[in-house]
Amino acid sequence: MASPDFYALDELLEPAEIEIRDRVRAFGEREVTPIVNDYWERAEFPRVLVPKLAGLGIAGGTIEGYGCPGMSAVSAGLVAAELARADGSVGTFNGVHSFLAMQSIAMLGSEEQRQRWLPAMARMELIGAFGLTEPRHGSDAVGLETSARRDGDVFVLDGQKKWIGNGSIADLVLIWARDEDGNVGGYVVEQGTPGFEATVMTGKTALRAVWQAEITLTGVRVPAENRLAECSSFKDVSKVLDRTRYTVAWRALGLATASYELALAHALQREQFGQPIAGYQLVQDKLARMLAEITSMQLMCWRLSRLADADRMTPAMASLAKMNHAAKARAIVADARDILGGDGILLEHHIARHHADMEAVFTFEGTDSVQALIVGREITGLSAISGRRDDRR
Ligand SMILES: Cc1cc2nc3c(=O)[nH]c(=O)nc-3n(C[C@H](O)[C@H](O)[C@H](O)COP(=O)(O)OP(=O)(O)OC[C@H]3O[C@@H](n4cnc5c(N)ncnc54)[C@H](O)[C@@H]3O)c2cc1C
Repeated sequence: MASPDFYALDELLEPAEIEIRDRVRAFGEREVTPIVNDYWERAEFPRVLVPKLAGLGIAGGTIEGYGCPGMSAVSAGLVAAELARADGSVGTFNGVHSFLAMQSIAMLGSEEQRQRWLPAMARMELIGAFGLTEPRHGSDAVGLETSARRDGDVFVLDGQKKWIGNGSIADLVLIWARDEDGNVGGYVVEQGTPGFEATVMTGKTALRAVWQAEITLTGVRVPAENRLAECSSFKDVSKVLDRTRYTVAWRALGLATASYELALAHALQREQFGQPIAGYQLVQDKLARMLAEITSMQLMCWRLSRLADADRMTPAMASLAKMNHAAKARAIVADARDILGGDGILLEHHIARHHADMEAVFTFEGTDSVQALIVGREITGLSAISGRRDDRR
């Protein structure tokens, strides 16, 4: 079977990048794929994997120091792709913990805050969550309504959050809230704080093996030293999202690659009309087009991560990849599911899970349209995001 590395991308990777990619790939094949369908079907989070993920030494991704691996952005992307290739839910768990939560602390915390939380998060002894989205504010998270009121040496948080990955199991839930001056800040809420209630969202048709929570905050008292020291406005939250978004493009690539490999393997062994379906021109056309998209996605991911490593990645560069890759991967996963015929909707063949999970990747961390608007703003100099004329520059 031909490798999905059609243009020998391996030759562009550093030995350390290949080593971590192979380590995570082996982990996915050995530990994740064999067990995950069952968890997905029961909508259970495979907690059993957390200590094993900790043992991989990947938590914290590109963060340097504090017990984090300090890997290149290419390595971090390869890790994200390989985890997603094994399972989108497990990839999402790590994405929330290692990137959204830990990067927020690394980028916006004080030195004392980084020392306090990051080492235990790197060991996955403390799990993180990132609480931005609210029931009334998704794409326009900038309008968040959760409030933070100063009361002596604590902040009092009130409000609601929705879709918060790891929100019900995390030891540290980062809540983004607006203070009395209207400024958005990040508040680290520790598990067990009175007034904090997280309910696992049920009835999901995607990423069923990772939990998102609806969170209610009622007079939650957070010590003042838990407010991220270097966050003074929503722009700082955006910086974290802009800096971590490239990993979502890699995750889309991981799901697309897994789906292509499953479709190719199935097409080679499934016989109809007396020969393998891989021998039919229409099936080959689909496989060839999938591989073309995967190859272009690989090259874009690699280049984007190299730019990130050189501190040259703009928000729109990351958005372009998220937009492009999520849309392309969504089409690839759908074609792969088709190639498996009826088997394509049976969990045991894995493609059904990737097909469902891809829908969530298409939407989260900024929808397809929102990414297009971020790119559009950078290429035209005109913001169309709010749709209001006065927003344009
Ligand atoms: C599985 C999953 C996990 C998630 N994990 C987290 C998490 O850990 N933490 C967190 O804070 N959030 C999380 N989210 C929330 C996620 O980021 C939001 O779902 C996403 O930003 C979209 O918001 P929304 O669902 O409210 O959709 P909406 O914003 O209501 O969008 C609905 C539709 O309107 C379109 N739209 C919106 N605004 C515009 C516009 N200006 N122009 C054109 N079209 C527009 C969108 O593109 C979309 O098609 C998660 C979501 C999912 C599904």
